Amino acid sequence: MTGPKICVVGACNIDLISYVERLPVLGETLHGKKFSMGFGGKGANQAVMAAKLGGEVAMVGKLGRDVFGENTLANFKKLGVNVSHVHFTEEAFSGVAPIAVDDNGANSIIIVTGASDLLSAEEIRAAENAIAKSKVLVCQLEIPMEQNLEALRIARKNNVPTIFNPAPARPGLPDELYQLSDIFCPNESETEILTGMPVETMEQAEQAAKALLERGPKTVILTLGERGCLLVDANGARHIPTRKVEAIDTTGAGDCFVGSLAFFLAAGKSLEDAINRANKIAAVSVCGQGTQSSFPGASELDPEIL
Ligand code: ADP
Repeated sequence: MTGPKICVVGACNIDLISYVERLPVLGETLHGKKFSMGFGGKGANQAVMAAKLGGEVAMVGKLGRDVFGENTLANFKKLGVNVSHVHFTEEAFSGVAPIAVDDNGANSIIIVTGASDLLSAEEIRAAENAIAKSKVLVCQLEIPMEQNLEALRIARKNNVPTIFNPAPARPGLPDELYQLSDIFCPNESETEILTGMPVETMEQAEQAAKALLERGPKTVILTLGERGCLLVDANGARHIPTRKVEAIDTTGAGDCFVGSLAFFLAAGKSLEDAINRANKIAAVSVCGQGTQSSFPGASELDPEIL
């Protein structure tokens, strides 16, 4: 493979989805109507999205020696993701997310990150070559903080631009994390958690994004669901709208956006051009069911988008 090179450091999960008439109450056993399994974890999703577009993607992560880990590895291989830095542990199960979805589409989710928590700083350092030869490094918040910082430091040392997706968000992220992020890319609710500021109107979004920019990233891209994104950097703020579509399932839209953004930046597109293209691909993904299953591959897209 000779596509744009991207390295993704992060978590892999398997979504275990039970469809039920209603969510169970405490202590109750319910019969579900249907069950399905899906590949997930923000790192894995973003890596898969970039690979589906033709990227040469190296994944750095950790799986358990169990059926979920084996399936995840097989999925990466099928999609051409380089798994040289996907490690296995006997100490924990692969990350799983048991999810219940009721007839109204409301859900309850438990995430057990498991093996991803055991990804070590040494394993990140062992991936230095994979990071250094990439055009973009992508990280999220589903692995331990120190491991993220280590990956970002290696990227900075090797002049590799970084995209940090602070998901799932929690307040009080270290200053160094912001400073090592060339692009800091949260969604609306993550931005509210990180800043304590409301993000409803465009003006509010701009104020909150500027507050994040002051913490040290070169650029903030705030994703705004059907409103597209807000790009904020030293030149000010620009709203980059997206296509209007009939969304049926927005799960994983953010990961689709981040993976696509990484691909287009690694391919040498300008920031605004890359955002426009990532917006269009994420708009396609929200028209399909599921997470990775809704991510379009290069052959399914209008060649103009690529
Ligand atoms: P998350 O999935 O993390 O909540 P967002 O909802 O902000 O993130 O969505 C990420 C991106 O996906 C948006 O910036 C946009 O490009 C696209 N997107 C999300 N929802 C829609 C929608 N209803 N219509 C069109 N594009 C959407």
